[in-house]
Amino acid sequence: AKSQRQGGYATYHPRMHEQLLERVRLETDLRRAVEQHQFRVVYQPLVDMGTGGVNGVEALVRWHHPERGVISPVTFIPLAESTGLIGAIGEYVLREACRQVAAWRSEVPGAENMRVSVNLSAPQLDDPDLVGLVTRTLEETGLPATSLVLEVTEGVLVDQHEAALTTLNALRGLGIRLAIDDFGTGYSSLSYLHRLPVDILKIDKSFVDRLSDNGDLSLVDAILSMATTLGLATVAEGIEHEHQRSALAAQGCDIGQGYHFSPPVEAADMPGVITAALHT
Ligand code: C2E
Ligand code: CA
Ligand code: CA
Ligand code: CA
Repeated sequence: AKSQRQGGYATYHPRMHEQLLERVRLETDLRRAVEQHQFRVVYQPLVDMGTGGVNGVEALVRWHHPERGVISPVTFIPLAESTGLIGAIGEYVLREACRQVAAWRSEVPGAENMRVSVNLSAPQLDDPDLVGLVTRTLEETGLPATSLVLEVTEGVLVDQHEAALTTLNALRGLGIRLAIDDFGTGYSSLSYLHRLPVDILKIDKSFVDRLSDNGDLSLVDAILSMATTLGLATVAEGIEHEHQRSALAAQGCDIGQGYHFSPPVEAADMPGVITAALHT
């Protein structure tokens, strides 16, 4: 604490050094994690706002580090993207999620038409074999293309060049649906939005957070009516309170996701979540 008060470069430098060391350590560990299969997929229900039923899940990756325990994707996905490891991790998540949801569809009552959403990073979109990978994965797991949703963040979609747009259109050509993730955090103008090859709009949690009791609905209302005009289905993420759910449902939002319904759960716990939703 004493040395911190000295200020200037003398204390700044060691901290930079520490951060760099930590990054190098994490990168080494991440490489090993890919080789040793230290990743797991958890699932968060996507709830039909009309019926309350679970009509889909979002697949979310977790890193089970042998010494540090469970590491959040917020920590390691950016590192995976900058090191090229995202390809192997993303491929694992896609295959595991498709396999798992195909199994639930045939085994769990109420899950017959369940969909699965998988997050896609910018470097994955640049992979010329992405369409091939997705095609093979659907074939191997038996999941219908129409039951797979790929989520791409608003920022990534807006930045895209011609090659990536061709990839996105080819994916849609397979019957896969595309979602624009974290909508409202980027800067896409409304005129641009209608040109993006997407089917679903996910409203970012920050907008849902602003829906307090008797709060201002105009922003979310504008997004929802715009989505309807463009023929997009709508999902609101980060719903934590009943008043948020009821406000969004009243405004015509199609699907909800958030701790109010359920946090992400281990695969083994999902059949119970599906069944519970059937009886409420
Ligand atoms: P995201 O795609 O926006 O996913 C939603 C995040 O919000 C998840 O965090 C989820 O656990 C969290 N969440 C859901 N409901 C609530 C709620 O009611 N309150 C709060 N406070 N949080 C909620 P998670 O699992 O930590 O993932 C963080 C981000 O990491 C994801 O944000 C996504 O951008 C990225 N990510 C996760 N899995 C993957 C993956 O397999 N591939 C890629 N490329 N990115 C991934
Ligand atoms: Ca997402
Ligand atoms: Ca999101
Ligand atoms: Ca978000």
